[in-house]
Amino acid sequence: MKGVFIISIIRINFSTMLMRLLCIVCLLGCGHCFGQQPKCAYSLLQASLKARDTAATFPIHTGNKVTADESTAYRIPVVFHIVLNSTQMSVLGTTENIRSYIAVQLEVINQDFNAQSSDSTGIPAVFKPLHGNAKVRFELAHTAPDGSASEGYNIYITTKQGFDFENDITNSVGFSDSKYSNTGGIDAWDPTTYLNVWVINPLDNGKTNTLLGLAIPPSFVARYNIPDVEQGITLNYLTWKGMGVPRYRTLTHELGHYFELRHIWGDDDGKCANTGGNDDGIEDTPPQAKETYGCPHFPKYDACSPAGSGIMFMNYMDYTDDACQHMFTKEQVSLMRRQLQVYGNSYSLTRHPQVLDYPAATAISYTVSPNPANRFINISFAQTSAGLQSIRLFNAMGQQVYEKKVEMQQGFYSIDATVFMKGLYLLQLKFADKQEVHRISVQD
Ligand SMILES: [Zn+2]
Repeated sequence: MKGVFIISIIRINFSTMLMRLLCIVCLLGCGHCFGQQPKCAYSLLQASLKARDTAATFPIHTGNKVTADESTAYRIPVVFHIVLNSTQMSVLGTTENIRSYIAVQLEVINQDFNAQSSDSTGIPAVFKPLHGNAKVRFELAHTAPDGSASEGYNIYITTKQGFDFENDITNSVGFSDSKYSNTGGIDAWDPTTYLNVWVINPLDNGKTNTLLGLAIPPSFVARYNIPDVEQGITLNYLTWKGMGVPRYRTLTHELGHYFELRHIWGDDDGKCANTGGNDDGIEDTPPQAKETYGCPHFPKYDACSPAGSGIMFMNYMDYTDDACQHMFTKEQVSLMRRQLQVYGNSYSLTRHPQVLDYPAATAISYTVSPNPANRFINISFAQTSAGLQSIRLFNAMGQQVYEKKVEMQQGFYSIDATVFMKGLYLLQLKFADKQEVHRISVQD
């Protein structure tokens, strides 16, 4: 795919003395070219960080040893927060279309995180033994934090053109305005239970840009004093439609970051481990100098892997085109899985599988009074009459004498009993999943 570039940017804001570190993957499509050079500030900032604060050096993961648990499959509740204006929404289409994008997006990441992608046949034979299976399934959350039923996504139509990487008021970075309802976004769902994914139009200084995605992993929250409700992933809505080809693997890559993976080349702009550069901290990925663009032929060599099988450009943590990315390695998977195990940064995400189901029908509490009734028959719900469909009254002969179809759920209903003859009646309340009958005595 010519003219397509994926760029990583790291920015740091020192103005509040809190360092905030973010990794952004972005893409330049040549339909709206922003230049042929990757605008990557990551390595510069890395150097700045090291100079200014030794505590803020970029984490280098140590080699991953075999973890205690290689077999457990994890299920993670995901919620998508879609914050777009009406023009951007029309690019995606109807709510039904958005559901389809979400479904396809989940399918892609679930294949990639379960070593089930059909294009894994593209892994060169020499790398095939390194192909890792993360055994993580991402599923839509069907119970919201307030206990209500959810489809696993929220849509908010904004009048804004988009959300800036850095907001003007607090200088916080990472499109943070999209993450709070009081700044025109959608509030995170409890990030210890749900993996939050915001789908937005990312801006930089008010201008449309080509950032594809961003991950704020839990470790960054702790290390750089980022509010924990900002952890999660941001996706450019155009990764689903509008960039020529879908970029569903943006989320695969960002999830890799979310679970603490670094870029495969170590973000050191060409250096190698033996020349003062970084590695990605992963033992079974070959050394690599720089990011890869496009879709190279195997083998591809560079300064850090100048012979043998060369670099692993088909890794999800490189910048290769989506269609040419095929794998996480076993050690990458091991590091990600550690985050999901006891003491791991994302362990809590595996502990709430009940939110993947719709909420169980809650007991509906109400009273019918007075009984005997003379003037009114009152039906009073503790909260609202959730799921109430109709109210019917039958006389002793089984004839229906009253019916109300419930259009809007209320907390209180009243039936005028003065129109009924004295006698015994049956009050039937029909709910979505049950019906209940009460014997009512009507007096003069
Ligand atoms: Zn990245």
